Amino acid sequence: MEQYNNQMVVEFDSVSRNEGFARVVVAAFVTRLNPTLEEVADIKTAVSEAVTNSIIHGYENKDGRIRIETRIENELVTIIVTDYGVGIPDIEKAMEPMYTSKPELERSGMGFAFMEAFMDDLKVESAVGKGTVVTMWKRIGKTKEDWETGEAEEETIKENQ
Ligand code: ATP
Ligand code: MG
Repeated sequence: MEQYNNQMVVEFDSVSRNEGFARVVVAAFVTRLNPTLEEVADIKTAVSEAVTNSIIHGYENKDGRIRIETRIENELVTIIVTDYGVGIPDIEKAMEPMYTSKPELERSGMGFAFMEAFMDDLKVESAVGKGTVVTMWKRIGKTKEDWETGEAEEETIKENQ
């Protein structure tokens, strides 16, 4: 079966103006997988939430750098958002829906819940004073089973005829 593997890294300043850039650059990179509009919207939302968290919480709006690595392995997209900010003292608590450490900013505490809902899987790693790494996975279009049984390949051949 033909493999399609690809990887990219972008790193940019932690300013809210770059949120839009981050969503668009990841969306553009996954276009090769022919995602549906809904899949693209899901990925954009998840990237936005992670990047916003790095800006607001990780760096508390001070200077910093945010790195996004995106990997494609066949139909599987992996997105890794890293900041080198304050870190998260209690990851389990932070990931609870409706938990926010900044209620005064009228945050709703739903960022991680959205990332979980819109992506297939989510992993958060963090060290206080060092930073946070959010890894998200999503399978695009064809299911894992389709790839394993070769049906996806057959479909691709048909589409190209
Ligand atoms: P919302 O996303 O709804 O605006 P929120 O950002 O507070 O609100 P989540 O995105 O779910 O909610 O994050 C929950 C909490 O986890 C945050 O309030 C913050 O304390 C912590 N957190 C999340 N991301 C980071 C990060 N990159 N660095 C440090 N703390 C973080
Ligand atoms: Mg958030």
